[in-house]
Amino acid sequence: MTNTCQYCSKKIPISKVFCSPTCKESYFQKIAISVPKPFIKKLYFFCTKEEKDYEIKSFAQRHNWHEDLVLEKVEELFQEYYKCG
Ligand SMILES: [Zn+2]
Repeated sequence: MTNTCQYCSKKIPISKVFCSPTCKESYFQKIAISVPKPFIKKLYFFCTKEEKDYEIKSFAQRHNWHEDLVLEKVEELFQEYYKCG
């Protein structure tokens, strides 16, 4: 029997929830990240690719979050807000 890592979906023993401490940390940090909806809208509809990268970088730095995690979260929320239906 195997389980999958809650963060990266790698196969792991059933007794574990995450494959590594890094995944555990990333998982919980990502849950803690909150991105305002108007910010998402601005990024996707009013920014160039360069501006979007810059905005995400400074947003992450301002809140002391990992830029990669913020980017993942932003993409998830964009799908949720603007791509459903
Ligand atoms: Zn993992």
